[in-house]
Amino acid sequence: MATIHILGGGLAGCEAAWQVANAGLDCILHEMRPVRSTAAHKTDQLAELVCSNSLKSESENSAPWLLKEELRRLNSLLLRVARQARVPGGHALTVDREVFAREATLAMEQNPRIELRRGEVTSIPADAITIVATGPLTSGALAEEIGRITGSERLFFYDSISPIVEAGSIDLTIAFRASRYGKSLDSTDDYLNCPFNREQYERMVDALLTAEGVPAHIPEDQTPFFEACLPIEELARRGRETLRFGPMKPVGLTDPRTGRRPYAVVQLRQENLRAESYNLVGFQNHMRFGDQARVFRMIPGLERAEFLRYGQIYRNTYINAPALLKPTLQLRARPEIFFAGQISGVEGYVESIATGLVAGRHAVELAMLEPVRPFPRETAIGSLCTYVSGADPAHYQPANITFDLLPSLDEETRHRMRHDKRARHAEVCRRALEKLDQYRSVYA
Ligand SMILES: Cc1cc2nc3c(=O)[nH]c(=O)nc-3n(C[C@H](O)[C@H](O)[C@H](O)COP(=O)(O)OP(=O)(O)OC[C@H]3O[C@@H](n4cnc5c(N)ncnc54)[C@H](O)[C@@H]3O)c2cc1C
Repeated sequence: MATIHILGGGLAGCEAAWQVANAGLDCILHEMRPVRSTAAHKTDQLAELVCSNSLKSESENSAPWLLKEELRRLNSLLLRVARQARVPGGHALTVDREVFAREATLAMEQNPRIELRRGEVTSIPADAITIVATGPLTSGALAEEIGRITGSERLFFYDSISPIVEAGSIDLTIAFRASRYGKSLDSTDDYLNCPFNREQYERMVDALLTAEGVPAHIPEDQTPFFEACLPIEELARRGRETLRFGPMKPVGLTDPRTGRRPYAVVQLRQENLRAESYNLVGFQNHMRFGDQARVFRMIPGLERAEFLRYGQIYRNTYINAPALLKPTLQLRARPEIFFAGQISGVEGYVESIATGLVAGRHAVELAMLEPVRPFPRETAIGSLCTYVSGADPAHYQPANITFDLLPSLDEETRHRMRHDKRARHAEVCRRALEKLDQYRSVYA
């Protein structure tokens, strides 16, 4: 049987290689370090954690816990290594990054089914099953090749993500539903609009001007911002009116409470496949998370907002996955090519491990001429893959695991548990793990 190639020995690549080897197949794991390094990696070790040492919450029935629990049940190598490397970190799974990378590297080097090749890959093998897992800092030559295969307008080099708030935390006595000039994309009032009067707007601009920025992760993050996705605090610095003529423009909108056009507006958009949450349109920013919460709660209607995600801008290479991938992470146009990790359009260490596991297992199914079966939609893993392959390609933003990616509970259960968010989350987790166990008992 043909050898499977895995490009990139990071989190996704190591997990994928191990899954392939564990299923009894051979693979070649290509890693360019130390022959060539990236702006963020510091060692020649595989699975190096480039920034924080946290694999996020281990609190039972939280979304990050669910993703990790699913991975554990699927015999994930890196979750096992994380347990070995664990250091005290409160509710989070925090690891000693040196022990983590060392153990992962040993697991690759010592596995007779994994051949580790050190060197930069510049093209994708023509006729082999290949998993592309070269991460957010994919080297230039390979990025060009990926651009050629996927269509260059579908390969992005910057990640500018705007904050997301929980739907239930928006004050609907203030925010109103409407699309500019009544022009909706699907005959509904697409947006929720948070209206400002002049005084509120001026206060918001002052807060943006004094908010603290996040230090750059890597030198490349200090490159000038793209004009198309400027952080809002940068827009505020360009002039007090700039926001009112940019992302906060009020044209075409009438506040039903006053019957007048607001002085400025923040628009919130519900993304498809993200139930019960709203995106602050055009509010990508580089502020510290604490400052984002403080400043954005000054937006009328968001005084008690709960943030599912904060805004960020940094160097990232990723494909426009919904335009290109199947839920199995295979390229639709060339199903022998899989994408995994950050380049596949997910965000975060554990999400990268999860997509590595998915791609590794599906690559095995493909190599063994078995049907390639997507993970159940109700699981965290299945929901990530559904989002990656099925979100709106026109507004695609990489996702980390949050409950709004998982399907809602049925109407009756939601109603029964409407006053108890913890119970709802516990039920979503119970359902996910039940579905995963059914899937495992049949296919794993
Ligand atoms: C600066 C920075 C900080 C981050 N901080 C965090 C954080 O704190 N928490 C978090 O959850 N997520 C963070 N992320 C996001 C993400 O979780 C990590 O980047 C994660 O390592 C992604 O896993 P991966 O397997 O996709 O890529 P990586 O772990 O980066 O693995 C990709 C591997 O491919 C290799 N490679 C690249 N090009 C080639 C080539 N042409 N040929 C051969 N090998 C190649 C690289 O050397 C690398 O080893 C951060 C990202 C960046 C860039």
